[in-house]
Amino acid sequence: MKAAEFLYERPASVAEALALLADEDRDATPLAGGQSLMPMMNFRLAQPGTLVDLSALEDLRGITLSDGMVRIGAMTRYVELVRSGVVADHAPLLAMALPHIAHAAVRNRGTIGGSVALADPAAEMPALLLALDAQITVQSAEGTTTHGATDFFLGMYETALEEGELVSEIAIPVAAPTDRFAFYELARRHGDYAMAGVAVARRDNAHRVAFFSISDRALRAFDAEEVLDKGGSVIDAVAALAELPYSGDLNAAIPTKKHLSGVVLTRALEAL
Ligand SMILES: Cc1cc2nc3c(=O)[nH]c(=O)nc-3n(C[C@H](O)[C@H](O)[C@H](O)COP(=O)(O)OP(=O)(O)OC[C@H]3O[C@@H](n4cnc5c(N)ncnc54)[C@H](O)[C@@H]3O)c2cc1C
Repeated sequence: MKAAEFLYERPASVAEALALLADEDRDATPLAGGQSLMPMMNFRLAQPGTLVDLSALEDLRGITLSDGMVRIGAMTRYVELVRSGVVADHAPLLAMALPHIAHAAVRNRGTIGGSVALADPAAEMPALLLALDAQITVQSAEGTTTHGATDFFLGMYETALEEGELVSEIAIPVAAPTDRFAFYELARRHGDYAMAGVAVARRDNAHRVAFFSISDRALRAFDAEEVLDKGGSVIDAVAALAELPYSGDLNAAIPTKKHLSGVVLTRALEAL
């Protein structure tokens, strides 16, 4: 398949990019790594009037430590996260999960901001950010807003992002030595989208449990978190998953997703 006709812009500054995105006549869409957007355009599932290529915007790139946060620019590619000492030392849950996200060729181009903005229910990153209590900063021509991850992922490919806004930064609280993290996913083949997966964080005896690929969005399992916070067993935590809003996909129907969510949570908790 071939994409419909579109205009292409490669702005040199964030301000220029935001002005292009704010121009209602352009029907503009940001382009990050293009690993999801280009196939969607080729299948004509997306037909933007203007592609605003963010690849020249160095302000949206990089991994730094400040104010107790690991700060990651939206245009930072997965391969840069994989190679980052800051991520390895201060965001160990990300480091654990990154090798499971797609394949090397896709990680060479795909960006963290693209994954966050897309909110694919089968993607790892939204669930990781939920488990890590991350903050997502978005910019528009009007200004800057920061969302907690729990308020950002609203539905299937649906986020709190509004027309004309860009994800600019993802900030993750630096891990303390006493924090514990676990990640587990079941995929037919390493690097493929998972059939079910979970990210778990335990900080000061408070648990955050976030699933992906079992529902129409990445979601926290609040009931299971409560069981674990009170010192409940793995069996009780798995039982508390019963009320989650499961949905099936091409990989598996709802009963299978229910079963697999229990399997991945059990394995993650055993590794915590
Ligand atoms: C073969 C294959 C396997 C894959 N497997 C996995 C996998 O196992 N797990 C996984 O999580 N992903 C997987 N992916 C998806 C890949 O990780 C995506 O490319 C990535 O999630 C999106 O990032 P991108 O930079 O390519 O975004 P793009 O494709 O450029 O953009 C995606 C969407 O986000 C918007 N966007 C991009 N950046 C911004 C921004 N800064 N602000 C606002 N909107 C923005 C775009 O307009 C578009 O709507 C796979 C992709 C392929 C092709």
